Amino acid sequence: MTTTTPVACKSCGAKIIFMRTNSGKYIPVNFDSVVGSGIPSYEIFNSKKHTSHFATCPYVATHRKKREN
Ligand SMILES: [Zn+2]
Repeated sequence: MTTTTPVACKSCGAKIIFMRTNSGKYIPVNFDSVVGSGIPSYEIFNSKKHTSHFATCPYVATHRKKREN
């Protein structure tokens, strides 16, 4: 019954939504790659249908642990 609603990426401001993966983790997904104004909360991320925001965010490094030096 719940619908996932889009939020703005904290790094680049792009519209994203969080989707669950097969492994139960939530990842940011480009809103553009999702049809409609939201997705049912039970829908699982599908790399063939949806685009992970990690793949396109210009600030993706800030989403991950810093690995400097
Ligand atoms: Zn971003």
